Amino acid sequence: ILILMDVTEREHGERMRREFTSNVSHELKTPLTSIYGVSDMLASGMVKPEDVKGFAGTIKEESARLISLIDDIMRLSQLDENTVIQEKGVIDLWEITQEAVMRLSRKAQENDVELKCVGTSAVMKGVDYVADEIVYNLCENAIKYNKKGGSVTVTVRSEAGRCVLTVKDTGIGIPPEYQEKIFTPFFRVDKSRSRAMGGAGLGLALVSEIVRQHNGQVKVLESSKKGSMIAIMLPV
Ligand code: ADP
Repeated sequence: ILILMDVTEREHGERMRREFTSNVSHELKTPLTSIYGVSDMLASGMVKPEDVKGFAGTIKEESARLISLIDDIMRLSQLDENTVIQEKGVIDLWEITQEAVMRLSRKAQENDVELKCVGTSAVMKGVDYVADEIVYNLCENAIKYNKKGGSVTVTVRSEAGRCVLTVKDTGIGIPPEYQEKIFTPFFRVDKSRSRAMGGAGLGLALVSEIVRQHNGQVKVLESSKKGSMIAIMLPV
């Protein structure tokens, strides 16, 4: 008897888990090291009174980064357990998009980016706060990785049994070799730029996991130095 076992998928899964754990540890360690360093200086009494405020600000910023990182990791692992998807109800992707765009309008203004959405009702089976996560993340990225005076156009439509959302920006673009990688947890094209804007590279990993669980697709439709267009297709 000869038994052959294909372990490619198992090995791949194990490698992904190892990489994920090592990335999580690294990402958690960076803000914690900074908090430790600053609080150590404060505790030693070496800091001049006028500098205390600045140091406290650093501790606050780094703690906020830690909290947001842990929130993202928890959401990813929650999605991994497949519990969210069982709460599916009837949602309108167009309504959810309009609301997310409204919440982001201030951020767009601050970044000098024009944010607009056009569409029609797109009713589907899904979970509202999960769908909001997709729309919010894509639009937030389109604002963050844009240029001053740029624009973001979001469209929603329902066609042939599926709901289609596109987010088009006039931003910095995604080099062709990274267009698939951006959906991997912790992957960032420009680590320092993303980090400066509070990103840990988990947003698109969340989007891709949600879309996968809805049997949908997420794709970079086009991207150049003039901007990008990302599309989501979800079955009704
Ligand atoms: P982050 O928290 O870094 O924004 P994401 O997972 O949302 O993480 O995105 C991963 C990376 O993909 C970003 O760091 C950025 O380099 C790239 N990216 C995502 N969206 C865009 C976009 N609209 N234009 C250019 N680059 C983008």
